[in-house]
Amino acid sequence: MAQIIDGKAIAARIREEVKAGVEELRRQGKTVTLAVIQVGEDPASCVYVRNKEKACRELSIHSLIYRPSESIPEGELLALVEELNGRTDVDGILVQLPLPAHISEKKVLMAIDPSKDVDGFHPYNAGALACGEPGFVPCTPAGIIQLLKRSGISISGKECVVIGRSNIVGKPVAQLLLRENGTVTIAHSKTENLKEVASRAEILVAATGKAEMITREYVRPGAAVIDVGIHRDEHNRLRGDVNFADVFDVAGAITPVPGGVGPMTIAMLMQNCLEGARRSFSEKPL
Ligand code: NAD
Repeated sequence: MAQIIDGKAIAARIREEVKAGVEELRRQGKTVTLAVIQVGEDPASCVYVRNKEKACRELSIHSLIYRPSESIPEGELLALVEELNGRTDVDGILVQLPLPAHISEKKVLMAIDPSKDVDGFHPYNAGALACGEPGFVPCTPAGIIQLLKRSGISISGKECVVIGRSNIVGKPVAQLLLRENGTVTIAHSKTENLKEVASRAEILVAATGKAEMITREYVRPGAAVIDVGIHRDEHNRLRGDVNFADVFDVAGAITPVPGGVGPMTIAMLMQNCLEGARRSFSEKPL
C-alpha cells in the first residue's frame, strides 16, 4: 500500500511560509503585488483567477485584477503589459490563458518582463532553468519537486521518468529533476514500449492529459507516482492521468487527485510572487 502524498497539507505549509515572508517584507516597507490579466469571461479562467485572487488575499499579497473584454485589440493588451512592466510597485504579472483567437499568446507572453514572469513561461526563464541560472520556475513543476522533497523522497541518483513533454509541465519538471541529480528520461506520445520505459522509474511523473491512462503495468513496485492530470469524469468527479485504485498497492507513494499536485500550483505561484518582490526590493533583478 502506497504512502499518500498529501498535497493539500504541503501546500498549506508553503502558504504559511510565504505569508510570513510577505509580512516580513511589509514590515520593511514593501507590499508584494501581483497583477493578473484575464481577457474575456471564459468560465474556467474565471474560476482560476478568482482562486488566485483569494490566495493573494489570504497571504496579504496585493492583487490588481484586470478584466478587459474579449474584443480587446492585441495592441491594447500589449500596451497594458508594457505599462505593468514599467510599474515599480508590481512584482509579478500573470496573463490567464487561453487568450481569444485574435490575440497571439506567444506575443503576449514574450512581452512580459522576465523579472516579473511569475508563471515562468517566458523563454528567458525556460532558458535560465535549462542553464541552471536564477529565474522563475513554472509553478506546477516547482510544486512537484516540493511534494517529493517534503515527503522525504530523495531524487538524487534515482531513475526518474516523466511522461509528457509540454513546455509548462513535462519539460520543466524533467529539468528540475535533473537539477536535483535524478537520472531523467522524458517519454511522450511517440515513445516505443512506454510500459517498459515507465516501469524503470523510481519516480514516475504522469503528465499526459489522458485520463487514468497509467495503470499498474506502468509502475515499478515501490515507485513514487506523481499524477499531474486533471479531468472531470461523467459524474463530474476529478480524475488524474493515473488510475489511482489500480496503482495504489504497487506504488510506494502516490499523489491523489484531487489533493495532490493541484493545490501546489497556486502555492508556488504565491512563492514566485514573494521571490520576485524580494529580488526587486533588494535591487537584484534577473
Ligand atoms: P499537453 O497536452 O500539453 O501535453 C501532454 C503530453 O503528454 C504531450 O507531450 C504528449 O506527448 C504526451 N502524451 C499524450 N498522450 C500520450 C500517450 N498516450 N502516451 C505517452 N505520452 C502521451 O498537457 P500538459 O499541459 O502538459 O498537461 C498534462 C496534464 O496535466 C493535463 O491533464 C492537465 O490538465 C494537467 N495539468 C495540471 C496542472 C495542475 O495544476 N495540477 C497544471 C497543468 C496541467
